[in-house]
Amino acid sequence: MAAINDVPYKIYLEESEMPKAWYNLRADMKNKPAPLLNPGTHQPMTAEELSGVFCADLVAQELDNTTPYFEIPEEIRSFYKMYRPSPLVRAYFLEKALGTPARIYYKFEGNNTSGSHKLNSAVAQAYYAKKQGLKGVTTETGAGQWGTALSMACSFFDLDCKVYMVKVSYEQKPFRREVMKVYGADVTPSPSMTTEIGRKILAEHPGTTGSLGCAISEAVEVAVSNPGYRYVLGSVLNQVLLHQSVIGLETKAALDKYGIKADIIIGCAGGGSNLGGLIAPFMGEKLRGEADYRIIAVEPASCPSFTRGVFAYDFCDTGMICPLAKMYTLGCDFIPSANHAGGLRYHGMSPVLSQLYDDGLMEATSVEQTKVFEAAEQFARVEGILPAPESSHAIRVAIDEALKCKETGEEKTIVFGLTGTGYFDMVAYEKFHNGEMTDYIPTDEELAKYRAMLPQV
Ligand SMILES: *Cc1c(COP(=O)(O)O)cnc(C)c1O
Repeated sequence: MAAINDVPYKIYLEESEMPKAWYNLRADMKNKPAPLLNPGTHQPMTAEELSGVFCADLVAQELDNTTPYFEIPEEIRSFYKMYRPSPLVRAYFLEKALGTPARIYYKFEGNNTSGSHKLNSAVAQAYYAKKQGLKGVTTETGAGQWGTALSMACSFFDLDCKVYMVKVSYEQKPFRREVMKVYGADVTPSPSMTTEIGRKILAEHPGTTGSLGCAISEAVEVAVSNPGYRYVLGSVLNQVLLHQSVIGLETKAALDKYGIKADIIIGCAGGGSNLGGLIAPFMGEKLRGEADYRIIAVEPASCPSFTRGVFAYDFCDTGMICPLAKMYTLGCDFIPSANHAGGLRYHGMSPVLSQLYDDGLMEATSVEQTKVFEAAEQFARVEGILPAPESSHAIRVAIDEALKCKETGEEKTIVFGLTGTGYFDMVAYEKFHNGEMTDYIPTDEELAKYRAMLPQV
């Protein structure tokens, strides 16, 4: 084991070293992500069309493929100071437990009440909504992390927050639901009778426990039919990756401070926002030919958008009212089996990451959930933090890569994103402990069925 004074156990930046601007990876991409299309006309969505759904400043960020840096407004930087900079931790104890010569670092984003990185974008989106003089925002939440983050941000800026929460989570995860209520959010289980699309879905699938795609449709419907409201989304969109670049910029600054060069960068991928944020400055260097990194996206075997999906235009929501995005997708009608990493149960993937993956600039792999929980426990026992099931996908692959180094004797530097804590996921841990956890993997036939339903663009 390397001496603990090699580099500090936790590398913190000073407040004065925190990023003052977000980095827009798209500016350095030769092949830009494909534009969002109007679902009716199949023409690129204009700023005007998008501004009916999203706040004006966020529309500008969404459509901008050329400006490399966006200054972080002072109000957002002050808010960030409540829980940022987040630590970059050298996993000395995990290295020792594995007996690996690899050096492992993780960027810990679970250091705030929402328990995940999602607050980084939630505060930005709430800020721009307030700046525009809006009354409130609507959104969906799956497992509840995004809804919790947004509720906190909205209460800070005194905005109304309406959250459509996937029904199965609403019922099975009462704690997150109540945290949202602490922050004053209005939480509705989805599908609900409060929207046209919710009533339609309930009529077609009585007793359904909902999905993210369906909750998105409800939230969008409420936003566009209530004056003074806009819809906000916690992942997938270009603007969300832009805000999350704060993770990668801090990580890079902390590594640079100690002259450390990463070899492998690993992150879990649901809609791609934490991974897109973590890799942003590193991928920027790679795109500009200044450095090279191996970048690995990790997804659940039960919802394998990158590894078994297709790169095509698809709807972001089940209700098919949102714009079409070109992305790696399993089809918007695909509803993954009940795995316990709620934040990774999305059928699609960020168009930015999809393009990078298609261009061979990053890799992807999928892992089964019992293997993920084994890694989660191994990590918790030596590093102390109880990880979120989503984050544990990255832990699994970081451990596997470190074990490969043990075989080859290579002293690689591995950096992974630890996106959050798992205290609200104890039912999942309980299932794991009782041997009741299943590893359902969709068959090729199932996937083909949903692929055949993709829109023809
Ligand atoms: C939402 C969530 C994720 C996945 O979302 P991305 O947009 O892919 O980052 C991962 N980890 C945690 C803790 C989450 O809450």
